[in-house]
Amino acid sequence: MNPEISIVIPFYNEEDNIEELYHCLKKVLDGLGRDYELVFVDDGSQDRTPEILQRLFEKDEKIKIVRLRRNFGQTAALQAGFDHAKGEIIISMDGDLQHDPADIPAFLAKIEEGYDIVSGWRKRRVDNFLFRRLPSWVANRLMRWLSGVPIHDFGTTFKAYRREVIKGIQLYGELHRFIPALISRTGFKITEIPIRNIVRQKGKSKYGLGRVRRVFFDLMTVKFIVSFIDRPLQFFGLIGLVFASLGLLIGLVIAIGFYFFGLSVKDNIGNLILASLLIILGVQFIMTGLLAEIVSRIYFTTHRVKIYSVEKISSHGNEGTENL
Ligand code: UDP
Ligand code: MG
Repeated sequence: MNPEISIVIPFYNEEDNIEELYHCLKKVLDGLGRDYELVFVDDGSQDRTPEILQRLFEKDEKIKIVRLRRNFGQTAALQAGFDHAKGEIIISMDGDLQHDPADIPAFLAKIEEGYDIVSGWRKRRVDNFLFRRLPSWVANRLMRWLSGVPIHDFGTTFKAYRREVIKGIQLYGELHRFIPALISRTGFKITEIPIRNIVRQKGKSKYGLGRVRRVFFDLMTVKFIVSFIDRPLQFFGLIGLVFASLGLLIGLVIAIGFYFFGLSVKDNIGNLILASLLIILGVQFIMTGLLAEIVSRIYFTTHRVKIYSVEKISSHGNEGTENL
């Protein structure tokens, strides 16, 4: 029997946080009286994380461990966890105690109300202003605007999903931040709830300012995917048409000038070259659009490639091998 709820948590060198988090989780989840599983993903940790997880695993039937071969990053680790989660409701959160398991019942309540995604909202952020809150404020505004999904906090991992939602997507890059945007086009119902934002007490954050750049490019990707993945020619084709029309127009003006007003071609070589370049550029864009159409067909019809590699799965139940 599949559990009702899966809690998915990626751990990368979180030796000082795992046990306390585990006990908090147990307290909250056992109190719910519902069937659940804990899917712990060890993202290639080099500290005592694997041993501690193993120790907990041996004592607790509800734990499943997915150990990745090396450090693949939070997004890949989350995807690995999602792939091995069996619950009808899947909740993801961080493993560094910055998310409080006591918030879980509120997520569940919203799902019960009929929402497909419940997103955590760090209403009062405790992070550094310049390096964390400011970039994140800008990114959230952009995301809200580009995706049309009206939530405040795209960045936090603390979110709950109905199974169908999470099973329909494949993550890469820093894309876990953009799950709500990625699935906005499918029409799932989304809401948000305020969550506590706790200062990290132990261990270090795994991110620096480099994240801002990566998030920016992923933002572009997401916008493109959300709007054009199923019709890329509309995007490239439009740019192509604009360039080609401009080139044709310039060419036409020169031709009219030449035939009717005695314009010298010699004096207009530069303009002619410009016109040809624009036309070639336009055609190139349209060709790119057609290629992208083919790529997008392939994307939609073939099996998708996994972005991580599992070393070992410890599970008390039957784990199919089809995911490996
Ligand atoms: N994490 C991971 N792989 C990584 C980096 C982070 O699994 O390569 C996990 C980390 O252990 C934590 C969560 O992702 O549970 C969030 O990471 P972190 O606290 O460093 O991010 P921040 O809170 O600073 O955004
Ligand atoms: Mg953290």
